[in-house]
Amino acid sequence: MTADTLQIEIKQTDKSRLQEVDFNNLVFGRNIADHMFIADYRDGQWQNTRIVPYGDLSLSPATAALHYGQAIFEGMKAYKSEEGDTLLFRAIDNWKRFNKSAERLCMPTIPEEVFMGGLTELLRLDAAWVPSQDGCSLYIRPYMFSTDAYIGVKPSDTYTFIIFTCPVGTYYAKPPRVKVETHFIRAAEGGVGGTKCAGNYAGSLYPAKLAQEEGYDQLIWTDAREHAYIEESGTMNVMFVMDGKLVTPFVSDTTLDGITRKSIVAIAHQWGIPVEERRISVKEIIEALKENRLESAFGAGTAVVVSPFATIAYEGVDYALPELKEDSFVNKVKDYLTEIRTGKTEDIFGWTL
Ligand code: PMP
Repeated sequence: MTADTLQIEIKQTDKSRLQEVDFNNLVFGRNIADHMFIADYRDGQWQNTRIVPYGDLSLSPATAALHYGQAIFEGMKAYKSEEGDTLLFRAIDNWKRFNKSAERLCMPTIPEEVFMGGLTELLRLDAAWVPSQDGCSLYIRPYMFSTDAYIGVKPSDTYTFIIFTCPVGTYYAKPPRVKVETHFIRAAEGGVGGTKCAGNYAGSLYPAKLAQEEGYDQLIWTDAREHAYIEESGTMNVMFVMDGKLVTPFVSDTTLDGITRKSIVAIAHQWGIPVEERRISVKEIIEALKENRLESAFGAGTAVVVSPFATIAYEGVDYALPELKEDSFVNKVKDYLTEIRTGKTEDIFGWTL
């Protein structure tokens, strides 16, 4: 079965909601496009692949995912090219990462033809929902959850996979103020931090809320053993430009293997900028900041793309990041990534579909 031959039953909406959306004031996650793709896992295989108008689901109160959290998701984006085509960025990498999460959570993997075939057809139907405004894109949310109506802790026998999409604008209105977390943790070695499972995000809400009450936008997570090494920040990988190098924590089972992160690493290599993927201690960053060796610190992720930090707070002290120069690496890489994603520049990496 290929994406072209996947049998998808399509029920189109008879009342598009497109006209209700203000494309010049898109708020992240508020508007959801007309249709969704659904597949069910029953009797050991994916079946009943269909596209239906976006709407509510009907679930048993005993649905396993609601109790034990066997639920995973992905986040990816499609862009509108100047010619009006829909361009997908590194979607195969998201599919692979989705399956990695599925394996860790004891869920069935999803074949490429179902993931990509469903997505391609959904994007064809809802092509008018892909924004063309600067900085805007169509955010794509594939997810899977266990559906056995059974109260007992075991891997479910049945699952539902869904993809829906939402037109989005920018994530942070201004550069975030981030606080280095030294009490709570997001992930520990041997755990599920390297997956996109729902519980990782639920567990991060309370520490993030406390930081927000102190006036910060987001946390920088540190390692679970010593709280000495930087891991990631919110739904972003963390990167630093210092001493003429791009420096970023290596990916392990406590950090997500971010697609934006690895794209930026590849671009830096291409541009001849030295890259270090290694353990980075908080102290090293604070020292570099004090000695004016830190050019920038930023988060990298699908939702934000690239988000330079305004402040890093550590042990009660706020350290302001230097003002970004027009030709700084962060600005250049953000523009270049956007040009690749929107087809404005040649995609020498073969990332867009
Ligand atoms: N870390 C976490 C915890 C995330 O949720 C995300 C968003 N998927 C990222 C990093 C960035 O990954 P990507 O660039 O693939 O969006």
